Amino acid sequence: CGIVAYLGNQEAYPLIIKGLKRLEYRGYDSTGVSVHEDGQLQIFKKAGKVAELENSLKSQKLKSTIGIGHTRWATHGEPNDKNAHPHFSSDKKLSIIHNGIIENYSSLKKELESKGYSFASDTDTEVLITFIEDIKSHGLTLEAAVRQALSTIEGAYAIVIMDQDNPDQLIAARKGSPMVLGIGDKEYFIASDATPIIEYTDEVVYLNDQEIAVISRDEFKIVNIENVEQDPYIQKVELEL
Ligand code: GLU
Repeated sequence: CGIVAYLGNQEAYPLIIKGLKRLEYRGYDSTGVSVHEDGQLQIFKKAGKVAELENSLKSQKLKSTIGIGHTRWATHGEPNDKNAHPHFSSDKKLSIIHNGIIENYSSLKKELESKGYSFASDTDTEVLITFIEDIKSHGLTLEAAVRQALSTIEGAYAIVIMDQDNPDQLIAARKGSPMVLGIGDKEYFIASDATPIIEYTDEVVYLNDQEIAVISRDEFKIVNIENVEQDPYIQKVELEL
C-alpha cells in the first residue's frame, strides 16, 4: 500500500516513519521498517498504526542511513505481525517491501518449497524475495537476479529491496503500481507517491512500468527489464504540503 525508502546521509528511520505517516491517508492495516545496523539487516514490523510501531521502538538505536518502510493493505495472508512487511529472504540477507500482487505466487512457492525453502509468512511478497534469493544464489548480482525474477513473475508490483552485503544500494522496481524516486544532494528517496518526498527535494523521476532503479550513495541508474539503460526524465514537483 505505502512505500517509503531512503539512502543518504540522514538517519533513515525517523525520515521513513514521518513519510509513512504522510501516506496514512491511503488506509492500511500493518506497518514495518528495515534498516542496516551493526552489519546486519533488521526488520521491525507489526499489525497496526505507524505510531504503534514507533512507540514499540522507542528504546531501539536504529542508527542507519539506509532503510525501507511499508504500510500494508493485506491481499495475501491476514493482517497480522508476521505478514506485515518488510520480509526477509530465507537467509535474512535481503529485505523487501512490496505493493501489489504476485499472481503466480502459489506455483512459485511450491517450486521453492520443493527446493527446501520454507516461509515465515503467508504473503506473495515473501515468495518473491525468496525467488530472487534463489536466482541470486547461482552467482548473479542482486540487480541481475531482480531483473530475471521480474521477467518471470506475473502481477503488479512496486518493490524496494535492501541487501545486507551492500548497505550502499537500494533496488526499486515497478509494474502497475506507482513509484517515485526523489533526487536530493547525495541522497535518494523512494515512495509510492510524492507526498513523503516533497519536503526534501522537488526533483523526482516517476518510474515507468518494468523499470528498475539501481540507487547507490552518489548516483543512480534506471534500466528496463531487458537491461537497457533508460534516460531518466527528471521532473519538478510542486505539491502543497
Ligand atoms: N500482496 C502483498 C501482501 O498482501 C502487498 C499488499 C500491499 O499492497 O500492501 O502482503
